[in-house]
Amino acid sequence: MTLDVVNDVIVPKRDGEELDEARLRAFVNGVVDGSVPAYQASALLMAIVLRGFSAAETVALARALVDSGKVLDLSVLGRPVLDKHSSGGVGDKVTLVLAPLVASCGALFGKMSGRGLGHTGGTLDKLESIPGFRVQLSQGDFLRQIERIGVAVVSQSERVVPADRVLYALRDVTGTVDSEGLIAASIMAKKIASGTSVLALDLTVGTGAFMKTLDQARSLGRLCRLIGKSYGRSVSCLYTAMDAPLGNAVGNRLEVEEAWEVLAGAGPADVREIVLELAAVLLAAADLKLGETEARERAARALADGRAAEWFERWVAVQGGRFKPGEFHRLAAAEVRAPREGWVSAVDALAVGRAAQRAGAGRRRADDEVDAEAGVVLEVKTGAAVAAGDVLGRVYSRGRDTRVAAAGLLSGAFTIADETPVAPPLVLGRDEPA
Ligand code: URA
Repeated sequence: MTLDVVNDVIVPKRDGEELDEARLRAFVNGVVDGSVPAYQASALLMAIVLRGFSAAETVALARALVDSGKVLDLSVLGRPVLDKHSSGGVGDKVTLVLAPLVASCGALFGKMSGRGLGHTGGTLDKLESIPGFRVQLSQGDFLRQIERIGVAVVSQSERVVPADRVLYALRDVTGTVDSEGLIAASIMAKKIASGTSVLALDLTVGTGAFMKTLDQARSLGRLCRLIGKSYGRSVSCLYTAMDAPLGNAVGNRLEVEEAWEVLAGAGPADVREIVLELAAVLLAAADLKLGETEARERAARALADGRAAEWFERWVAVQGGRFKPGEFHRLAAAEVRAPREGWVSAVDALAVGRAAQRAGAGRRRADDEVDAEAGVVLEVKTGAAVAAGDVLGRVYSRGRDTRVAAAGLLSGAFTIADETPVAPPLVLGRDEPA
């Protein structure tokens, strides 16, 4: 259809009307071919944020976004390809462990991943902190690698969902990121177009996440599962707490080191718990004829007997990376110490994420460089007893000024109370495919 942007979409949405698939499709096509200018696209996005977007509109937008670019066909592999996506967190190195782990258990895993923005880190930045690691593979190489070693994690191809690139950039600078429908369509269009058939979504909830309440996350999860259903894809949602960072390390290479510890059967219990939950969901949905309990047991065995770690080394080497555990140069550190004795009752994920970003591990703008070695390592987690002067955490940064500034931010992350806090749950809930 020929779109009259003002009268067909902006004004109707401003007045609370539901938009049909034909108009949304024409709008998305106009965004890609440049016939819809940024100011009109932004006006519609704001109307959507203020007036809401129905489930039917969300599914229709996702379908139009998928069709705006290339859709990968992984069916030639003849087996389901597993994928995982997190809605963002601080210290979230789950993919680094989960990808080789499920491959070592006999499944295929393929993921197109993104970079970090703001206080949350991105998997690509973490992988690129391994010297030589290549995140850009051709589609053919992506497929061949999954076939050969069962795992590949690459950067999103420019040709996949080009409309989302334009719309997301606009949303980022016009205060229009916060719409459930827009978020669900944006996330799911990229997942559908990347061709994977089984998806586990880790929807994070808390101070360090997009969604502040479980209800918001569940509502987003419902939309994502509906989009998955409309394509016949299996989408499960796990809801996890992100009030405190996941694990102890926050920062690209620091997180790779911590992921390695988990792969080698040790590492922080919270990272291991979320990895095993997701591995159980994914492996049970693969073609391995495993129930969830068996799937979880198989994954736990692979962490314990070294298979998962071996698979990680193989995967990294195939993508060009040179990884030797323990051979990581640490930058100079600034320490943050406890001002008094008591119990650590909260470690604020957002504050830790901002400290790591200030240290050089994260971006403020999409084109900022990240420092692979910068970041934060926590010495205590929620529930720890501390004495005055104990080290709570360390900031690693290249420059003295950034080290001091980041340590100041980190010191604001800890709350110390007089009583033992109740340990908050990590996994808040779960929803099966729609
Ligand atoms: N992540 C995405 O890919 N898109 C959004 O809109 C929000 C988070």
